[in-house]
Amino acid sequence: MAKKRDYYEVLGVDKKATAEEIKRAYRKLAKESHPDLHPNDKTAEARFREINEANEVLSDPQKRATYDQFGMDGPPQMGGFGGFGGFDAGSFGGFDSIFDQLFGGGATRGQRRNAPMRGRDIQVNLRIEFEEAVFGTSKSIDFMRAENCDTCKGTGGKDGSAPETCSVCKGTGQIRSGSGFMVTLRTCTACGGTGQTIKNPCDTCKGSGRVRRKRTANFTIPPGADDGQVFVMSGQGEPGLNNGPNGDLLIAISVKPHKLFRREGTTLYLEMPISFTQAALGATVDIPTLKGKVSHKIPEGTQDGALFRIRGEGVQQLHGTARGDLVVRVKVEIPKKLNEKQKELLREFDKISSGKEYESRKGFLDKVKELLQA
Ligand SMILES: [Zn+2]
Ligand SMILES: [Zn+2]
Repeated sequence: MAKKRDYYEVLGVDKKATAEEIKRAYRKLAKESHPDLHPNDKTAEARFREINEANEVLSDPQKRATYDQFGMDGPPQMGGFGGFGGFDAGSFGGFDSIFDQLFGGGATRGQRRNAPMRGRDIQVNLRIEFEEAVFGTSKSIDFMRAENCDTCKGTGGKDGSAPETCSVCKGTGQIRSGSGFMVTLRTCTACGGTGQTIKNPCDTCKGSGRVRRKRTANFTIPPGADDGQVFVMSGQGEPGLNNGPNGDLLIAISVKPHKLFRREGTTLYLEMPISFTQAALGATVDIPTLKGKVSHKIPEGTQDGALFRIRGEGVQQLHGTARGDLVVRVKVEIPKKLNEKQKELLREFDKISSGKEYESRKGFLDKVKELLQA
């Protein structure tokens, strides 16, 4: 085997060439030495392979870095570039693969047409109650699914007759026109790009081999599920093609808001109004939880916006056992409508107040006083 030339030399680029420069050099050289332009020219063919091999390594940042570090021999344990990712003869896929490389691919190759293909996933959006997400629930989910037609066993042909290779495109699904570099591919209209035609289409599915059916899946939402989560029912999607695996059924959860509680992960938040006398004197109050209520003692002198944490009254961790807390934010309500008697009592209360009862206010007034004296 002849000693390989340096890949940078092959593409005629500098060792510091950018990815864009490498791509441009490769395209230019590949076009010049394309086998179509040099029929039966073994040298041109070898040159074309050399260019492709160099490009395959230099266009891949990881392979390029390895090449820069170890050279043609590759890292010791990898056995050189011939054995890893090199453009070996076996992967020389003929015109189609070269076409893909030159023009960015996109054209599905004819021989791939019968390869097993995974069925499509189906997504179902499921809106559930706040409590259902927190505690979990079971749901029956109706959805539509394309399935193999029973009448023709998915072949699309009457009496289960197998489809025939399309005579127009010879089964490739594409029509090629032009020559050399002016080749264009278009989808075969005779078979719609499938490469196969059905002589006597099945009456049930009109030859598609598929029918849409309503299905019901029973799904258990685990406790701790949250808004925006997607659960997967494996293999419940559409059937695969050519014995490929089924797709999945994806269940996207959206949770309705709660009248009282707000949720962040496993923590529940509750805003609870209390009276200004409860705040000043302290009180034992009933705090609602998702399961009922708990009794909680609010201390004397509780401020507006004070937070209380009720342990374990939050949400259970999804797929876990830990439980979050309920965080209660106190909102001190000042009464808006008072009768004369109430007002009188409050004036009386104010009269016997020294001002020291109001810590922040006192601090504030002291600062104002300092400011005015300065
Ligand atoms: Zn059918
Ligand atoms: Zn065709």
